[in-house]
Amino acid sequence: MSEFPLSKARVDFPLLTNRVRGKNLVYLDSAASGLKPWPVIERVGHFLTYQTSNVHRGAHFLSDQATVAYEQARQKVAEFIHAPSPSSVIFTRGTTESINLVAQAWGRANLKKGDVILLTEMEHHSNIVPWQMIAKEIGAEVRALPVKPNGDLDLSRADDFFTPNVKMVAVTHASNTLGTINDVALLAQKAHAVGALILVDGAQMIANHPVDVQKLDVDFYAFSGHKIFGPYGIGVLYGKKDVLDAMGPYQGGGSMISEVAFAGTTYHDVPFRFEAGTPNIEGAVGLATALEYVQKLGWPAIEAHEKALLDLATQKLSEIPEVELVGTSANKVAILSFNLKGAHPSDVGQIMDQENVAVRAGHHCTQPLMKVLGITGTVRASFSVFNSAADVEQLVKAVIKAKEMLL
Ligand code: PMP
Repeated sequence: MSEFPLSKARVDFPLLTNRVRGKNLVYLDSAASGLKPWPVIERVGHFLTYQTSNVHRGAHFLSDQATVAYEQARQKVAEFIHAPSPSSVIFTRGTTESINLVAQAWGRANLKKGDVILLTEMEHHSNIVPWQMIAKEIGAEVRALPVKPNGDLDLSRADDFFTPNVKMVAVTHASNTLGTINDVALLAQKAHAVGALILVDGAQMIANHPVDVQKLDVDFYAFSGHKIFGPYGIGVLYGKKDVLDAMGPYQGGGSMISEVAFAGTTYHDVPFRFEAGTPNIEGAVGLATALEYVQKLGWPAIEAHEKALLDLATQKLSEIPEVELVGTSANKVAILSFNLKGAHPSDVGQIMDQENVAVRAGHHCTQPLMKVLGITGTVRASFSVFNSAADVEQLVKAVIKAKEMLL
């Protein structure tokens, strides 16, 4: 089918051969976690089986091999997001830890009483709470750019928000609830014009569209491996080198030091200064393989495939009068949030699960956004390279079943 260029990718994902309740599983929850393709599973297995060793410390063959693989993974990440150098790439546990690292290590050193951290109303809790924690400690203030009813960011009063006391702008590249893609390059310009830095939460963008941190001119970019076909417990923080160089460490321990004495300790260079302790080595090499997998499929095919699925699902669900779509921006990743008028999203989700259609129902860790939109939650279907028109058909059938049972 020409409109679904990746219809063969399904065979790469062994979990989809699992039968659930004797039937095929329709996995529409990639926004929560991407499934893992064979090459990633095999790479992690190979590392654990034949290459297990700690990095940056052994004086033996295996340790050297592990160190090379780990540093090659850093290089692959740099290439993938167009970072100027691998030394701008820090491995973390995931988006959440990346944001906490910046809030603590950058925030503590650079924020003062009365400063403003500017977010948006569509942020995930992990791009809100770390900022509230440091703001409370320092006496800084957290503000949020408003969201329009259709899910677009409302920049009509931008000048009221981008004021000289703003020191950090922390925004999501794509909303995990609405799908909205924000114009990060524009927000970066606005942040820099008032002397602020910008951190971008790329958790939902990274698997859907190419990212070029230099073109976007962002100071920090965070994402998680598990959202882009990679392992759990591995993530990335990109930072501009001069900004990272000026930052003190986030956590103390082995590997992040230059020299330790009881009289005082000096710290290692960037990025090692921010990677205290033994890292998730198999996670990093597995993530590199996941990024290679994406490169092999190719962005044009991924974008065309996911757009076709999103358009088809949007059209089909719009034809059901009781369905209310949540987030109808013209510029979206492959996320479709909706409600059945008069039904609770978790009841809808439960019935869909009985039909083997895996979606997510709830507030999606965006409670402030739910409050702005005046709803308690949504049902969220999210699409990936392995989904097909048949999956959309199953989605629609399950929604109709939920409608018949609940309304
Ligand atoms: N930001 C967004 C937009 C997300 O969707 C998520 C994951 N749901 C996160 C941050 C947090 O990612 P993680 O739990 O992998 O740290």
